[in-house]
Amino acid sequence: MMFQEKGQLRIPGPTPVPGRALRAMAKPMVNHRGPEFRDLLKGLTDRVKRVFKTQNDVIFLTASGTGAMEACVSNILSPQDKVVVTVAGYFGERFAKICEGYGAQVIRVKSEPGRPVEPSSIEERLASSPGVKAVFVTHNETSTGVQNDLEGISRVARGHGALVVVDAVSSLGAVRLETDEWGLDVVATASQKALMVPPGLSVVSVSQRAWEAIRSSRAPRFYFDLEKAKASLEKGETPFTPAISIFYALDETLGMIEQEGLENIFLRHERVTRMLRRGVRALGLELLAEDHCASKTVTAVRAPAGIDADALRRLANRQYGVVMAGGQGELSGKIFRIGHMGYVDFMDVIGVVAVLELCLSQMGYPVKLGAGVAACEEVLLS
Ligand SMILES: *Cc1c(COP(=O)(O)O)cnc(C)c1O
Repeated sequence: MMFQEKGQLRIPGPTPVPGRALRAMAKPMVNHRGPEFRDLLKGLTDRVKRVFKTQNDVIFLTASGTGAMEACVSNILSPQDKVVVTVAGYFGERFAKICEGYGAQVIRVKSEPGRPVEPSSIEERLASSPGVKAVFVTHNETSTGVQNDLEGISRVARGHGALVVVDAVSSLGAVRLETDEWGLDVVATASQKALMVPPGLSVVSVSQRAWEAIRSSRAPRFYFDLEKAKASLEKGETPFTPAISIFYALDETLGMIEQEGLENIFLRHERVTRMLRRGVRALGLELLAEDHCASKTVTAVRAPAGIDADALRRLANRQYGVVMAGGQGELSGKIFRIGHMGYVDFMDVIGVVAVLELCLSQMGYPVKLGAGVAACEEVLLS
């Protein structure tokens, strides 16, 4: 079907890949220990630092985002270290589980689904449990569509002398994240979200404080050894064979990011979010997250009474070629999630809201056709 070919991926990763990035991936392989790759790696490292807003070291890893999360844990911690982890949903819980997997004592600071973890809750826990080595923060909790106050949490963590380790997989390159200004020690992201390239590559920034912790940490590691990666990078190499094709694609999408400018990209994501939220609400549907903590990259919508979220998604996919994500864990079947990060613009949002109107109407839920689209357009004209 033509729809499928167009690939209207409205999931929070992998996200749509621009044509020029896809075409770049068709280029022939080069020697990853030769001069071409050395130049590419050096160039991309410098350019990606600007997206991270950092002068810290930035290391590429061949892995999806979870590999980068694991690298954060295995390089920094030693067994029995005490850590605090923000758990606003599924991805926060993943960070906690990785820490436990490496033998850390994990203190979870949880929030209700659709709510952020407040800096004040972190402050309370840190005040009552001395000796916490690091605070692990999910910047944007993709499972619930909530953005945590990373700057606020970082300030609290640093006030207690803890390292700040950030999962920025679904935020970096779409919303403001100031690695140096906010004092973020380790920031991890992955290729298949706002960076607009296929999965397989992740990126980690490492501060001086974090390198000191890494030197004294005793967790087992090999493939994701950041010191080894740094030593290789100084020679213009990666320790192991990198995902060369994805570097080609990233070369293109970083060019697009530089051309549009980070500030404009942040504004576009904010505007797209406002449009989508207004459009969905105009159909009488409820959003999981309140406006003040709403993610700018993924929106979680509660299925209305009598409508099964997964049946709605199946219909949208089958009839209109629009792919949305379901709920994870306890939210399974209750919500659906619309991804809007990276290669996304206003017409994509209008399209997905129109498809929601059509599907809800077909499923017998009362909607006024055009009401959601009109609400989106009002935001666009305001
Ligand atoms: C996508 C995502 C990840 C990484 O998941 P992978 O499937 O390993 O790429 C991690 N954290 C968040 C918040 C994400 O959205």
